[in-house]
Amino acid sequence: EHFPGDQSGSTKPRQTPGVLYSATRPTPVASPKLIAWSNELAATLGIAAPEEQDVAILGGNLTTESMQSYAACYAGHQFGNWAGQLGDGRAITLGEWETPAGESWELQLKGAGPTAYSRRADGRAVLRSSVREYLMSEAMHHLGVPTTRALSLVSTGDKVVRDMFYNGNPQYEPGAIVARMAPSFIRFGSFEMLAARQELEQLKTLTDWTIDKYYPHLTGENRMLDWMAEIVSRTVTMIVEWMRVGFVHGVMNTDNMSILGLTIDYGPYGFVDNYDPEFTPNTTDLPGRRYAFGKQASVAYWNLGRLANAIAPLITDTEKLVAIIEGYEDIFWSKYSLMMAQKLGLDELLPEDHVLLQELEKMLVSIQPDMTIFYQLLITLPPTLESPEDIETFFKPALYNELTPAERRGLQQFISLYLARLATNTIDEAQRTAQMKAVNPRFILRNYLLHLAITDLEKGDDAMFKKLEQALKDPYGHGADEFFKTRPFWASDQPGCSMLSCSS
Ligand code: AMP
Ligand code: MG
Ligand code: MG
Repeated sequence: EHFPGDQSGSTKPRQTPGVLYSATRPTPVASPKLIAWSNELAATLGIAAPEEQDVAILGGNLTTESMQSYAACYAGHQFGNWAGQLGDGRAITLGEWETPAGESWELQLKGAGPTAYSRRADGRAVLRSSVREYLMSEAMHHLGVPTTRALSLVSTGDKVVRDMFYNGNPQYEPGAIVARMAPSFIRFGSFEMLAARQELEQLKTLTDWTIDKYYPHLTGENRMLDWMAEIVSRTVTMIVEWMRVGFVHGVMNTDNMSILGLTIDYGPYGFVDNYDPEFTPNTTDLPGRRYAFGKQASVAYWNLGRLANAIAPLITDTEKLVAIIEGYEDIFWSKYSLMMAQKLGLDELLPEDHVLLQELEKMLVSIQPDMTIFYQLLITLPPTLESPEDIETFFKPALYNELTPAERRGLQQFISLYLARLATNTIDEAQRTAQMKAVNPRFILRNYLLHLAITDLEKGDDAMFKKLEQALKDPYGHGADEFFKTRPFWASDQPGCSMLSCSS
């Protein structure tokens, strides 16, 4: 009924068995204009400021002779279901760039036109989603979270049709292209695809190549297992870092899980404003809240299980493989607890501190203060605060609601536990404060801020965009204190301000 590569009369998207990537050229655009350029990433790469010809490359209008551009093929589990072949529907790798430090980085254009994996879509990206990817990948970098990066944001001068309708008519939106970079964009789904197709020789080739190139320190006899262990550990680190800053990815499908433990695919993401473990920024995720803030650790574990399943045919000692994956939980809790101890400014994590951490979590879930502002206030907590009323007043700037008597008591209980613990701290106040300032961000790129920047930019005003671009470079400082406030009331149910759709 359906033959590989045959689109005629088929209702199934095109399949490309035996293939890991397809040569693809960007489709030219009307008039590429540089909106943003990351000086920091360019410096890491040893790239000079872009000239006219570079803008043509970044907009997809020029490929040089040395570029062997391609789109990658991969598969994945989406929302827990096997989705089969996916692939880069709109990301084209132009090539690799060697940095002065001797690293090799992949350069991809996202939104540069259809590829072999576009299925029925146009391969384009709209300005709003490109702004979100550009700013957030750089924001995450400056927060210190492992992430893919963005080098440039270019508007195309073309209009893109999206699934947002107004009075029954499709909406035309400005198109844009992000040049994103990472040592590699290989995902869990790249391996799952080969395993699903039973292309075990290809699977072995890809696995060996990935280890040789990105995990060259793994050389022993059991390097496949060592590799899995390192992926588990890197993935834990990434999730713990998300939890530290309150980041919610929103679409943790296995095709969005980087084999290098980097945050990848900036779509309907968001930060928790009020501390709600059930918060998902993705409207498509609403019925199940599979990708909610508080579920990210367990979803990552599930995703690692899918990767292990894919790799299993290459591994003889599958019991060891299972043990490595099951080790996730312990590694997670030890890294998570250490991170929390740092957020609280503790000298060290003592066994009895788990009570403190549990009380903190319970209290945060019950009163749901603004996560970012709460921790900032905690840095300057006066040791003399005692009465529930005084404590509530002190935390007022972080509160979305007035507290009930029970909530007030819960807050007081935690604060008295915390102050008692601080009294036994062996580091002095200055050290505690410095430690807390280094791990608790003061500026986070909230969705409503992005929404404001995007609507202005669509009208030709880039002032807010520029402000955010500056603010995200120093998330632990006071430079962006004009944004140091809770999410405004109007933004709580406005589309794009808290929750988003996948449409991009
Ligand atoms: P994502 O939800 O961003 O992980 O994307 C899922 C799949 O849809 C990937 O294979 C994307 O490349 C593809 N895709 C998303 N948007 C487009 C588009 N506008 N044109 C072509 N493919 C797309
Ligand atoms: Mg994706
Ligand atoms: Mg996406």
